[in-house]
Amino acid sequence: MKSAEIRQKFLQFFESKQHQVVASSPLVPGNDPTLMFTVAGMVQFKDCFLGHEKRSYTRAVTSQRCLRAGGKHNDLENVGYTARHHTFFEMLGNFSFGDYFKRDAITYAWEFLTGSQWLALPKEKLLVTVYASDDEAFDIWNKEVGIPVDRIIRIGDNKGAPYASDNFWTMGDTGPCGPCTEIFYDHGPSIAGGPPGSPDEDGDRFIEIWNNVFMQFNRDESGTLHPLPKPSVDTGMGLERLSAVLQHVHSNYEIDLFVALLKAAARETGLPYSQSEPSLKVIADHIRACAFLITDGVLPSNEGRGYVLRRIIRRAVRHGYKLGQHGLFFHKLVPDLVREMGDAYPELKEAEARVMAALKAEEEQFAKTLENGMQVLEEALAGEVRTLPGQVVFKLYDTYGFPIDMTADICRERNVEVDLDGFEREMEAQRERGRAGSSFKVAGQVDYDGEATCFEGYVKSSADARVLALYKGTEP
Ligand code: ATP
Ligand code: MG
Ligand code: MG
Ligand code: MG
Repeated sequence: MKSAEIRQKFLQFFESKQHQVVASSPLVPGNDPTLMFTVAGMVQFKDCFLGHEKRSYTRAVTSQRCLRAGGKHNDLENVGYTARHHTFFEMLGNFSFGDYFKRDAITYAWEFLTGSQWLALPKEKLLVTVYASDDEAFDIWNKEVGIPVDRIIRIGDNKGAPYASDNFWTMGDTGPCGPCTEIFYDHGPSIAGGPPGSPDEDGDRFIEIWNNVFMQFNRDESGTLHPLPKPSVDTGMGLERLSAVLQHVHSNYEIDLFVALLKAAARETGLPYSQSEPSLKVIADHIRACAFLITDGVLPSNEGRGYVLRRIIRRAVRHGYKLGQHGLFFHKLVPDLVREMGDAYPELKEAEARVMAALKAEEEQFAKTLENGMQVLEEALAGEVRTLPGQVVFKLYDTYGFPIDMTADICRERNVEVDLDGFEREMEAQRERGRAGSSFKVAGQVDYDGEATCFEGYVKSSADARVLALYKGTEP
């Protein structure tokens, strides 16, 4: 079953259960300044859960484009390293706004996954988790659905704080949240990794395919949970992970859509197609994120969303460079992506020329400093270097336009640590110098989105702090 068909089936199934089919919203949330990107299907419905917005329907189904590359949900560092993480992915979701709750959510999910006229997955390959104290969900899975108790795993507050659990889903630091139940698929003993909750759960044998969240609370800035007006349901299933299961492959990168993108990445970097080259996976992943960000109105810049885009483009370009492609190539993948996803996302097709032009411009700009920056980095890494000094990280960032995470990505490939504290000290020193000279500068005169190599006093330093926060995941 091709990804497009799976997407269609999901929408059809929930339509047959009286759900309104709603279009994907953009990657930039229209209704929420606390959130940088659409990280899940529920984002466009946040106000429905909170009771601030009433719609003509109480059940909805979507295939939502999502981005997890900054803030609380950030999978950028996982791309190329796990079989299941992307920056950009599609989330299939069904939603109840004060309509059905746990019982229907669970039984719908089971029917869709295992029903003979739907996906007909083998039941014995599925296992589920519930929030530790959620006896109600446990009993529905066990007594009504018939899952044996040894395949229902209770997960408590495993993230070191109350309500910080893999089975307590939160959108961000604030907003709708609640206990959840997750469905995992067992890809078999040939793949390393243990079941959820076990010491080796980080392996890729048991892959989480679907999360059903029982939205019950709104978390405020102080961390206090307030009950929502009506208990609701929010679910999310990664289309790429589900496609892998249905196409009998293990990794997301082996599904139809990704094979096409990997082939395009191989073509443009002059390599043979391969599943074992992480850099090809990174490029294939990043072209989706970048193309959809630009489609949704983001352009490369040195701040906020634009800087996330810039970081992702530069990361991809650097991976191409690593593969020996020192010319412009990244923008040439856009037509391949449009071929794969343009039917499902007409807005991408419409934006094709604009996307290519923006990517090409950023590639051209970065090409001016990438080569020299790489030389500086190579010199600093020569010999038995364990830690890359903060001064070098800063110089690469400030003079050569190397985002910190890109430098860290290169260092990780070589088992070298990055001295972030040292970087921070350099940045502070720069800020001091900027302050000292700031009486001669006027913020408004600075073309801030210009060259990555310029230093513009305090205008830049406020962005620097955010750059670091972004990298550390402390920026929403
Ligand atoms: P994981 O534990 O594997 O990182 P998650 O618990 O962070 O996943 P949720 O926030 O529960 O994921 O999102 C709902 C679903 O979206 C997941 O069950 C999965 O199928 C899919 N998903 C989440 N993150 C990614 C990603 N980075 N790439 C592809 N699919 C994803
Ligand atoms: Mg995750
Ligand atoms: Mg998880
Ligand atoms: Mg989850």
